[in-house]
Amino acid sequence: MSERPDRFGVDEIAERAEKAFAEAADLEVLEEARVRFIGRKGEITTLLRSIGSLPDEERPAFGDLVNDLRERILGLYERRKGALSDGAAEEDYFSGDPTLPGRRALSGGRHVLHQVLRDIKRIFFGMGYSLAEGPDVELDYYNFEALNFPADHPSRDTQDTFYINRDILLRTQTSPVQVRYMEKHKPPLRIIVPGRVYRNEAPDPSHASEFLQMEGLYVDRNVSLADLRNDVTYFVRAFFGSDAKVRFRPHFFPFTEPSAEADMSCFACRGSGCPICGKTGWIEIMGAGMVHPHVFRNAGYDPDAYTGFAFGLGLDRIAMLKYGIDDIRRLLSNDLRFLRQFWAETAGEVFE
Ligand SMILES: [Zn+2]
Repeated sequence: MSERPDRFGVDEIAERAEKAFAEAADLEVLEEARVRFIGRKGEITTLLRSIGSLPDEERPAFGDLVNDLRERILGLYERRKGALSDGAAEEDYFSGDPTLPGRRALSGGRHVLHQVLRDIKRIFFGMGYSLAEGPDVELDYYNFEALNFPADHPSRDTQDTFYINRDILLRTQTSPVQVRYMEKHKPPLRIIVPGRVYRNEAPDPSHASEFLQMEGLYVDRNVSLADLRNDVTYFVRAFFGSDAKVRFRPHFFPFTEPSAEADMSCFACRGSGCPICGKTGWIEIMGAGMVHPHVFRNAGYDPDAYTGFAFGLGLDRIAMLKYGIDDIRRLLSNDLRFLRQFWAETAGEVFE
């Protein structure tokens, strides 16, 4: 870089300002120095006035030069001011009250959905389930066809789907992992499949276009509805409290037969009726049923040799019920004021 002649003396002014700021031992002296250089009647203003003595073509460049100088000096001033203020605070601290609270270190915590998933996993792992996962971007075949949703069948309309093209979509449920897993593993098997699912829904307090589901699947010889009832009841009591009751209502899902929806007794009113349970005393928590023979055939299992059950629950919904959260959109908002209230439970926890 070539040395540029300091034609208007700006570098010299900047150097003097820096020196004056550095020598200022307190904020008062610093302020005097600031006024001397960049105050209304300071050196910069005087310099700017000399613009009248310049030929017209040099004036714009000169104006820029002086403005840059002003910014430079302001920067030097701010830096020195910060240093003096910190020093003053430190002095106060050491000469002052040693019982003053320290500065709080910033730390994070586990997201409430992550806590719920962790707790649910622990319960099912304890019952002998293992973890399985599948892709978010899924083939229509696994999301619908292999699960006994025929093409053009109206049951597909109940799940507003984000299609990527005719054959590829964002999965609307975690159920496609059932078939993917069975294709690669022989029974007996017990799996849980947590994951994100997507539906083209208008967001409101109880709907979001992406949310978390968890699928469960148990396949072996002679698995019965009684086994389903047993595992669901065990989970609900372990998660919500040992006095929870569970009931099943007949329902329809294409991939299970018979199918049911499971309700648990309202933990808030214990069955007498309140706003949380819509005055019914019961809260719907999951869909479930015995795996449909067509699904077994699609996965290469012999439906005469094996039976099994499947269930699916919304993790956002479970979190909202357990922690009294009134709007599903809060779970996606990343608003620390909301999320912080759940951190105490994981304080000091080591994240795996
Ligand atoms: Zn209730």
